[in-house]
Amino acid sequence: MKTFCGRANPTTGAIEWFEEDEDYDYHQEIARSRYADMLHDKDRNMKYYQGIRAAVSRVRERGEKAIVLDIGTGTGLLSMMAASAGADFCYAIEVFKPMANAAVKIVEKNGFGDKIKVINKHSTEVTVGPDGDMHCRANILVTELFDTELIGEGALPTYEHAHKYLVQEGCEAVPHRATVYVQLVESKRMWSWNKLFPVHVEAEDGEKVIVSPSEMENCPGVSSVCDIQLNQVPSSDFTVLSDVVTMFSVDFSKPVKSASTYYRVQLEAVKSGKAQVVLSWWDIDMDPSGRIKCTMAPYWVNPTAAVQWRDHWMQCVYFLPTEEPVLQGEKLYLTASRDEYSLWYKLQKARGEEETKADVPVECPVCRCQAHLLWNRSRFGELNDQNRTRQYVRSLRKVLKTDSVCLCISDGSLLPVLAHYLGAKQVFTVENSAVSCSVMEKFLKANNLEDKIKILEARPESLTSAHLEDKKVSVLVGEPFFTTSLLPWHNLYFWYARTAVSSHLASNVTVLPQSASLHMMIVEFQDLWRIRSPCGICEGFDVQTMDEMIKNSLNFRESKEAEPHPLWEYPCKSLSDPQEVLTFDFRETVPEQCQSTEGSVNIIRKGRSHGAVLWMEYHLTADTSISTGLMKISNEKEHCEWNPHCKQAVYFFSSVIESEALSDLPSTVTYAISLDTKTGEIAMDFKL
Ligand code: SAH
Repeated sequence: MKTFCGRANPTTGAIEWFEEDEDYDYHQEIARSRYADMLHDKDRNMKYYQGIRAAVSRVRERGEKAIVLDIGTGTGLLSMMAASAGADFCYAIEVFKPMANAAVKIVEKNGFGDKIKVINKHSTEVTVGPDGDMHCRANILVTELFDTELIGEGALPTYEHAHKYLVQEGCEAVPHRATVYVQLVESKRMWSWNKLFPVHVEAEDGEKVIVSPSEMENCPGVSSVCDIQLNQVPSSDFTVLSDVVTMFSVDFSKPVKSASTYYRVQLEAVKSGKAQVVLSWWDIDMDPSGRIKCTMAPYWVNPTAAVQWRDHWMQCVYFLPTEEPVLQGEKLYLTASRDEYSLWYKLQKARGEEETKADVPVECPVCRCQAHLLWNRSRFGELNDQNRTRQYVRSLRKVLKTDSVCLCISDGSLLPVLAHYLGAKQVFTVENSAVSCSVMEKFLKANNLEDKIKILEARPESLTSAHLEDKKVSVLVGEPFFTTSLLPWHNLYFWYARTAVSSHLASNVTVLPQSASLHMMIVEFQDLWRIRSPCGICEGFDVQTMDEMIKNSLNFRESKEAEPHPLWEYPCKSLSDPQEVLTFDFRETVPEQCQSTEGSVNIIRKGRSHGAVLWMEYHLTADTSISTGLMKISNEKEHCEWNPHCKQAVYFFSSVIESEALSDLPSTVTYAISLDTKTGEIAMDFKL
């Protein structure tokens, strides 16, 4: 069987659909899965084990047989815990076939073949009865179906069904309960991921301010959760406006309702400020007493407790529909509304109790302004970065002349507006999609620039002289930024677009950025290495079958691939100096032949070489560059600071070289990196 996979094509800037082996999908799923991360999550595993032991004893003490239902068994881990704890029988349900197969192997290997039955079905398809998948209903319900938002992976409908059809009334549940916590904060940094702030431009004739259309200011945005490693956000980046409060709890040992509902809590503002964001996380109690707790609380909540690193569960940032000024001591009502899979928040000032109660909960936020469809959260952050804007302004000012005909190629960029304010005679902007056209139109209207900047809804290769009013382009600009880019070098599409519009460029055209370079550095990750590292033995159970499966999937393609990660969330230290490995001259067209390089990089600090990080730098002019990766290496601990708006490419080495002393370091890592100019893909290989 074949499946279709969407992939960004950097030579066309479009998502293209490839026919792939059925296996491709499955290998991607396994290779990029969070199973390894979960198996490394010691805190989670330990607490599940404690909770399962306690539940099995409670059932045994009642003189009952312990029959376990483990929904979403994955590797079979929780069922093996239950069997070791003395459960009489376990039904281990797993919908994903390759995982169910792996679970069968792992269960056998650990000697639980007679105690655990792996059922490759979705739990809602499981039957109970003499000829059914399960002989009888279970009296212990074990699951781990939670995502960062708790309910995003469908835990509620799964529990609802299980209580109706698969478990006995009064069953034990591990976890027993989940509780969602919230805290109201003001945070310019986080708010900048959701709203476009006025952009200030120092023009020849004074300061200009680019404003957002009011439609954008009042737009509630999109409902998709913003999940981040909140532990990487310093406390100076937000102001706490309320205490941490419990928003709601779910008791998993009782029937669960998944139908849409809402919860409301009263808060008191502990400080005056602008309520913009609700920070949220949850904990799960593994037993009814609440003594075995696994919490996602960020560092400031329990300052003395060690924070367990994990990537499969993080924390949530919810943006309020609009910012709301609050006064210290003021009473506020916060409403969390949810459907089966997601949550959203609304804040109200406390009025009469009755009046507040009568309010209908808000509908799930839907973006009306389209900007939230065009720009994701990090793109909003990038456009709001005034430092970055200043660098473009400085460079544009250098290259623009009063007779400049300027063409911009980037998705939903403010560069055309900057170019206009900085004195270009004429500005055209190519917008690839209907959404980016529409957003740009609204923008120009809000700033009275409709007749100053011309939006061309065309692809660069289909641009005609008529589009450009028979003028030749004297300044071609791009950030470059394209919404389809996943890896840093995908924005090289700018180079392809520049090549496609060559016939429209004046002979002395200035291209900004004039060039780009690919940079690389060897790093040791504080934690991110876990997601690709074999686990071996987990809580005493041999899960090597899983390790092998992941390894096999990672090697499925001959050449391993780099993967995108926002490294501001994943601390690492540099083990080598950053090195420029390839350069791309945008003043010339894309060459026919591959651009390849080979070389070696010296390891200069001791540590564990987990992988290489790669990123792009754009050289706007000869003396101004913008890095989408490394910003600086701070002296203490060689800690790296990364561009907070971009994802960097991480290439994990298949073997980690550990070195306590510089003398036993491999002194160099050799690399071969090449851009296939036909496909726009960068292939790489490293040898330690
Ligand atoms: N229990 C394992 C794995 C948890 S990951 C552990 O704790 O380590 C969750 C797993 O549940 C995934 O493998 C997913 O495929 C599976 N899953 C999710 N919902 C399911 C459902 N309703 N029925 C069967 N499997 C489900």
